[in-house]
Amino acid sequence: MQHPVKSQFKHQLALLGLASMLGWALGAIAWSLVLALAGMLLWHSWQLHRLRVWLRKSDHRTVPESRGVWGDLFDDLHRLLNRHRKAEDKLRQVIGRVQKSTSALQDAVVMLDSSGDLEWWNRSARRLLGLRRPDDVGEPLTNLIRDPRFLRYLERREFAEPLELPSPINKRLQLQFTVTEFGQSDRLMIIRDVTRLKQLERMRRDFVGNASHELRTPLTVIRGYLETLQDQFGGQQPRLLRALQQMEGQAKRMGNLVTDMLMLSRLETTDRPMDELPIDIGRLLREVFEDASALAPDKELQLQLEIDERYLLLGQERELLSAFTNLATNAVKYTPSKGRVNIRWQVDALGGQYEVCDTGVGIEAHHLERLAERFYRVDNGRSSAQGGTGLGLAIVKHVMIRHGGMLEVDSNPGKGSCFRCHFPAKLMQLKRTDSTESALLIES
Ligand code: ADP
Repeated sequence: MQHPVKSQFKHQLALLGLASMLGWALGAIAWSLVLALAGMLLWHSWQLHRLRVWLRKSDHRTVPESRGVWGDLFDDLHRLLNRHRKAEDKLRQVIGRVQKSTSALQDAVVMLDSSGDLEWWNRSARRLLGLRRPDDVGEPLTNLIRDPRFLRYLERREFAEPLELPSPINKRLQLQFTVTEFGQSDRLMIIRDVTRLKQLERMRRDFVGNASHELRTPLTVIRGYLETLQDQFGGQQPRLLRALQQMEGQAKRMGNLVTDMLMLSRLETTDRPMDELPIDIGRLLREVFEDASALAPDKELQLQLEIDERYLLLGQERELLSAFTNLATNAVKYTPSKGRVNIRWQVDALGGQYEVCDTGVGIEAHHLERLAERFYRVDNGRSSAQGGTGLGLAIVKHVMIRHGGMLEVDSNPGKGSCFRCHFPAKLMQLKRTDSTESALLIES
């Protein structure tokens, strides 16, 4: 088959040939050629006009009749438009299905453009966030959720952790926001109602707190009676004395457990306190050091305390005392006789650092990640023999989170461990008295 453009070209050449022959016969070749060319131009312009009119129509089901290259052009375009329409229909169906299924979701789904303006949302977003169509389309989401924590979360662009906030239209609803970035800084936000989950969590924590509290009084009574019984009958009956001593040991352990559980539940249930007071870390650490020194005198450990006295730490004294004591006590507990324990407080441009290093049993690397979990013990027998509760490091971790800091552990099995608490620089306050002595070293 001949190519349509070639055949069209041949037709036009033949027409021009005919026109020149006619012009030669009539003695006016130039006029005849001009007339033929003008005719061809008119015909092409007319076809172009038809094409334009046809393309502008919304319905392209009927194709204009034409011959030659224009006929082929109309047919090709018709085929292309048909293919495009089918693809569009398919895409529309897919979008419709996605929108229908996301509309049926219990979780709210919100799409934001790169400037944080609302593009699309599902039905649950109306229920949880109060978004209304069409009024809110194109509005910045931060106009509707005005909580400063939400603004900070979006600005920081660190979406690895979800954010929890009360709903802007119903403060009793607790919502969890998860953000995924896609395309060119567009954001897909999934908002989940976690009210019930939070209630259950709070009930669980309250239960642990209340149960621990209730256990305190009976335990105190039992320990009191055990002491009295030992005083009264211990001297006469050594076997009874041994039994009473063991009972007292276990009651003491239970007491420690109750105290740690209460502390942990208080750390979990109360919000981070805003009234952080300046604490004299030197005084606090001398207290910690004395307690640690008195813990195992028979082990003959070498204990050393080093304090940078220039700064005060803004924080909660009771919580910090508990965390610092836990780390110092652990070092003494898990270091064999004649070992060394160094307790150090130092401040630099990055902040404050409390460090407890020992030459004790150490911890294998694979335990380190889970060490601060509740009741996680490297060696159950060893921990129980030392009177451990398995909650000490969980308390330290929580206290550090509440102070905006973090706990870091370095350990070498058989050689020793270093536990470091890093506090942010904003919690450091220079002491007013210009003391010449900036560092203090105490050895036991
Ligand atoms: P525990 O009351 O059992 O000491 P912790 O939460 O304080 O519980 O510590 C968890 C576990 O971490 C301990 O059981 C112990 O195995 C290990 N551990 C903590 N501190 C040290 C340390 N300084 N040296 C070696 N192991 C340690």
